[in-house]
Amino acid sequence: MAANYSGGECLSHTFSWGRKKDYEELTDFLAKKYEGEAILCKNGRSALALALKAYFEPGDGIIINGFTCYAVFEAVKVAGLVPVFADISTKDLNYNNETLEAISAAKGIIIQNTLGNPVDIKAIEKFAKAHNLTIIEDLAHCAGVKYPDGRECGMIGAAAVLSFGKDKSIDTISGGAMILRTPQKHEIKAPTDLPKLSDHLRARFYPLLGAICRGLTYIHLGGALMRLLVKIHWVERSADNKLDLNRRPSKFEAKLALRQLKSLKKSGETPLREYYLIEDREVVLKKLMKNGYYFAGFWYEKPVSPERYYKKVHFPEETCKNAVFVAEHIINLPTYYSKKDLEPAREIIKPFLLKEEK
Ligand SMILES: *Cc1c(COP(=O)(O)O)cnc(C)c1O
Repeated sequence: MAANYSGGECLSHTFSWGRKKDYEELTDFLAKKYEGEAILCKNGRSALALALKAYFEPGDGIIINGFTCYAVFEAVKVAGLVPVFADISTKDLNYNNETLEAISAAKGIIIQNTLGNPVDIKAIEKFAKAHNLTIIEDLAHCAGVKYPDGRECGMIGAAAVLSFGKDKSIDTISGGAMILRTPQKHEIKAPTDLPKLSDHLRARFYPLLGAICRGLTYIHLGGALMRLLVKIHWVERSADNKLDLNRRPSKFEAKLALRQLKSLKKSGETPLREYYLIEDREVVLKKLMKNGYYFAGFWYEKPVSPERYYKKVHFPEETCKNAVFVAEHIINLPTYYSKKDLEPAREIIKPFLLKEEK
């Protein structure tokens, strides 16, 4: 993951050179791996919106996880569909057959496998079949992860969608892709435009700028510099990344994504955020900051995050109580520290773990 880049890796990301054939190689790899037609997109949300357009009619209801990021909601809206939130279990942060029972009218279901926790796929497939739902798999958190029955995420749905965004299981700072695994109902147009130069440059320099900010955390200047970089648009917060159905990722992102996808296959594990449900989050956060940890927000501080977009969602808090609860109690360890550097953080968190989590 880019967030873990060492100094050398930052430089190799910054100066990595892509060519047109990198698009072709990534497309071919994805088509083979996920057994369908692969299309590269600007980011995960654009890929998701396009995939939804391929299989659903405007106005169709689509079930989404009640604990997710705004990008998913935005994609559903842009595709002209109606998001139907399903509450989650506090155990794995996913909906399940019990919470899904509360839902009636929908034509599709997006499987998210939150933070790399796979759903009980057999049960979900059964539910989808009984209610005639088309399955779309969102692999932003779970590329390479296996379901309990041994099948790999992305091999079940009508389509699979990948994000190559910051902190996702494939992370080249931005980019995305979809694989249409069954015949589309509506012909969609694959994006052909190149990324905007400003987006391209931001994606190139983010690992370097991020590393500089983290370096400065030790003299308490990292946060201030990062806020400044956001203000002058040298750094874009992930949630602000624009949805655009006509653009591709950068060529160098295609090259890096392919490299990561190939090594994913080897290691068989997806690094994602380590999370805990805790009491007194504010107190714990203060303690962690005092000990030199830099937190740039966590997944997810609201049932649909980030907080500044939450109001737009009109989230059904009454019917998704577990999602509200988890959003108030979750903490993720930053992904840019080594396992060893995180040991003291775990010790700080331990006394605050919610009872059933201990
Ligand atoms: C981030 C994210 C996306 C979208 O990815 P972008 O590349 O940021 O558009 C989709 N689904 C989930 C669950 C995500 O966390």
